[in-house]
Amino acid sequence: MSWIDKILPSGVRSDADGKSSSSVPEGLWRKCVKCEAVLFLPDVERNEDVCPKCDHHMRIGARKRLARFLDESGSEEILADIESVDRLKFKDKKRYRDRLSSAQKNTGEKDALIAMRGTLYSLPLIALAFEFEFHGGSMGYAVGEKFTRAAHIALEERIPLICFSASGGARMQEALISLMQMAKTSAVIERMKLQGVPYISVMTDPIYGGVSASLALLGDINIAEPDARAGFAGPNIIEQTIRQKLPKGFQRSEFLLEHGAIDMIVHRTEMRPTVGRLLSKLTQFPLALVEEPVPEDPQEGDAAPEAPNTPEAPEPREASETPETPESVASGDE
Ligand SMILES: [Zn+2]
Repeated sequence: MSWIDKILPSGVRSDADGKSSSSVPEGLWRKCVKCEAVLFLPDVERNEDVCPKCDHHMRIGARKRLARFLDESGSEEILADIESVDRLKFKDKKRYRDRLSSAQKNTGEKDALIAMRGTLYSLPLIALAFEFEFHGGSMGYAVGEKFTRAAHIALEERIPLICFSASGGARMQEALISLMQMAKTSAVIERMKLQGVPYISVMTDPIYGGVSASLALLGDINIAEPDARAGFAGPNIIEQTIRQKLPKGFQRSEFLLEHGAIDMIVHRTEMRPTVGRLLSKLTQFPLALVEEPVPEDPQEGDAAPEAPNTPEAPEPREASETPETPESVASGDE
């Protein structure tokens, strides 16, 4: 143990590898970022990545979300070949081209939006989801183009479009090209409205900037997950600008529902049946079954063992008010 480790409190000592020691063992356990409870991973999975202790909706990837939302069989990815182009040869601290290739390498995705054709209780539809890990889910050419083409397919086939969004806003490295995507996606949504093809938007934490100002809040029905942050500029920027303290819960889904900005808040485990029922009403499609099958009792050996060092579930605390978007993503709108 080095001299510095000896004088540090045990919680911040580093181990021999130089990594800080964690009270959460790897593999089977996951710590909730909100209530800090140590959770048994299979329990979290069963609960669709919602904390069983404090109901915090953890962030999940686009593919996982779509796989859970759509019926198990018969879904296929569409428009997979659309990717961003660095037309402006943009460079800030890093070259945009390098940012793109490292995001592609880290996520295995070509850009921040995934599109699938599939069914929900046998009702055919197109479903989209933002991959927040890809450049903060920011909207550049590829995201706008994929959304618009997916909407055109929905229009041609007269099937509903659903979009799960999670985004820091417009992709400033694409400057005007990224801002144009707001107009492009808004225009195609208007066309869907005129032709009576339903579009449902589901906002998941966080939704900011140019995405909240276009496709995320233009649904025929705008849904949000509980406690999701959604707004145009972040609360810190607004406070600095208007020099006033913002009300409690500002920009959270509950606040937005109370003030009429969204239509409903839906728990993640209720998303499938709720959207199913809504679409059934909008399309007059008789759904085979809107009830979720009752999950089987967990197998005996499947029961959660005692979590090591599980803290007494503390009072949920407010998560950080600042959207956790990489600095490079900050929407050009802020
Ligand atoms: Zn929790």
